[in-house]
Amino acid sequence: MIIKDIGNIPAEFDVIVAGSGLGGLTAANVLARQGHRVLLAEQHFQLGGLATYFRRGRHIFDVALHGFPIGMQKTLRKYWSREMADQIIRVKSIRFNNPQFSVETTFTAEDFTEILVREFKLERDTVNAFYSELAAMNFYDANPMRNRELFDKYFPGRNDVVRLLMEPITYANGSTLAEEAITYGIVFSNFMSKGCYTFAGGTDRMLKMMEEELTRNGVTIATRATLEKIIINDKRVAGAVINGRGFKCRAVLSNGNLLTTVNRYAGREHFSDDFLAQTDQVRLNTSSCQVYLGLKAGETIDYIGDLLFTSDHPVYDPEAILEHFGGSRTYSVYYPEIRPGSDDYTIVASMNARYEDWAGYTPSEYTAAKERLIDDTLNALEKYIPGIRAKIDYAEAATPLTFQRYTLHGNGSSFGTKFEGLKVSMALSEEVGGLFHAGSVGIIMSGWLGAANYGVITAHNVDKYLS
Ligand SMILES: Cc1cc2nc3c(=O)[nH]c(=O)nc-3n(C[C@H](O)[C@H](O)[C@H](O)COP(=O)(O)OP(=O)(O)OC[C@H]3O[C@@H](n4cnc5c(N)ncnc54)[C@H](O)[C@@H]3O)c2cc1C
Repeated sequence: MIIKDIGNIPAEFDVIVAGSGLGGLTAANVLARQGHRVLLAEQHFQLGGLATYFRRGRHIFDVALHGFPIGMQKTLRKYWSREMADQIIRVKSIRFNNPQFSVETTFTAEDFTEILVREFKLERDTVNAFYSELAAMNFYDANPMRNRELFDKYFPGRNDVVRLLMEPITYANGSTLAEEAITYGIVFSNFMSKGCYTFAGGTDRMLKMMEEELTRNGVTIATRATLEKIIINDKRVAGAVINGRGFKCRAVLSNGNLLTTVNRYAGREHFSDDFLAQTDQVRLNTSSCQVYLGLKAGETIDYIGDLLFTSDHPVYDPEAILEHFGGSRTYSVYYPEIRPGSDDYTIVASMNARYEDWAGYTPSEYTAAKERLIDDTLNALEKYIPGIRAKIDYAEAATPLTFQRYTLHGNGSSFGTKFEGLKVSMALSEEVGGLFHAGSVGIIMSGWLGAANYGVITAHNVDKYLS
């Protein structure tokens, strides 16, 4: 059950989890199962963070449910329920279409190998050696290699190969060729090795099941509940202020933005100079735009694949992917089968984006820019779904400002922080006893699986602290 007025709940908990992204939700569930009294406080009126949905008329739009690695099944089974794990189904077809190539893949290591050998004419031994190097990468080795060097080592001069191997990761977490290769190795090995999966019933069903499970485990869930301040006495968490009301607790796990957690919720005065210097170096990741399209009742479209990575840019270029009104889009097509019993088709186009490109508009310019985003998307989609304009009865756009508004992430950052953020996030409790962070951070801990698993890791650390 979700509480909408925090005025009537107890004034003391063992731990307050602020934010109900997949990191916060999973951490709250694990902590409650461990026997702790947990308050899960979410500032939005709905759970899920970026992994959420919204309804418009007969349509339900999933915001961030394009696909995730098979590891999510194990995470759901172990830390949520078998019923939830059983909802995981395979995404059938993923397509790439750009001026360099057009391929369809099942997103398995075997399929990628075949495509690289057959269509990109690479030596099988080279491809296998690349995979072996990724598999041998270890987070704890201080390996300074960057993505650019990794690709130059195995596929020198082959921008097309880099595009196939890297573009989905750039779309998924904002990575560039300048990122630490370890982040690519871990995310690629998780994501593009055993296929791509989704949640049958959509994000709405998943969040409903999560809410029921949290309630069964005794978590007090409150929406429209904003963490404003973490109360710290003698370098230890003593409570938190939510919507102006003080609560006692021994630990706070923030699922909100890492930098805001340090600088605003906790306050810089509680941290060492060294730690603050490291925090100030943390770069936020980039943001996103999305266009949501709903088909009229009775309209259908032919199967064109579930996930389409498309671009009209001549080469792979992470900067071009971020371009304002650029030509790179990922389409997620939701056929009725995803929500058994429904006959609704929706399409969500996602674009990586920079906050700065959207922040300076006047209200009327902003509205016009959103209209242009929708219009450009419909023009581009015409190639895959002829006559799309006549088929839809709903179109809406989200921008970095939308993401900022609904998640409170600085600059609408939709993929957490760059690599250096992970160290800061993990070291919080060494600075202030009982202060923890979980969620999309450091690229490695991003996406549905990364954020949920980081929630588990942090919950165990909170449990150790409380015990
Ligand atoms: C367009 C897009 C598409 C994506 N597609 C995929 C995909 O296909 N597959 C995949 O694996 N990943 C995808 N992702 C990424 C994935 O959704 C995120 O990495 C993951 O959901 C982030 O979870 P999180 O735990 O970091 O929390 P977030 O989702 O960032 O949520 C944080 C929560 O904290 C709340 N909060 C913040 N401050 C406060 C406060 N002061 N008090 C109370 N609450 C607060 C926010 O309201 C929010 O609910 C996508 C992301 C985007 C933007």
